[in-house]
Amino acid sequence: MREVEYRSNGVPLEEYTLSRWDHRRQKQSEETSERVQQQVDEDNAKCRADPARAERRRQAFETVARLMQSFKKQDHEITRWRVRLYCGHIIETEAHYTYTDPIDAGGYSKRCPECRKDGLTIVAFEPIGLRGEPPEAREPAPPPPPKKSSRAELERRVTALERENERLRAELNG
Ligand SMILES: [Zn+2]
Repeated sequence: MREVEYRSNGVPLEEYTLSRWDHRRQKQSEETSERVQQQVDEDNAKCRADPARAERRRQAFETVARLMQSFKKQDHEITRWRVRLYCGHIIETEAHYTYTDPIDAGGYSKRCPECRKDGLTIVAFEPIGLRGEPPEAREPAPPPPPKKSSRAELERRVTALERENERLRAELNG
């Protein structure tokens, strides 16, 4: 596993004064949440009016869910972060271990389980550690068995070599 230098911003559990920058980011996040919610509402209305559209959307969601499942990461590939949200609550979040901070990992805004508000920006964060211990170094995988050439392929190769041999001999004699 490659070494990643994790970043921290403030100490989530200590006193934290929101900066002007924090307020601005939170405002942007709320505006984005509103726009997304509007789009979702519009799409829901269209799906209610058009069953074929609703079915296509259901299938698209299923495909995404299957894809997410196939990307499921092992515990030792996940870093846990302690983060302080704009509302002042401290929550834990997780990200793939290669991200140096939880905002970079796409955690621009979160839902707070305490005040049940969406679109809350992360204002302070620190890494806690990996979700699980990496497994013991495994035995190196055995090399793949040599590919068995089919008889036809061998014959083709022999023919090609013979031709090449003839060509070289002709060149030497010429
Ligand atoms: Zn909260």
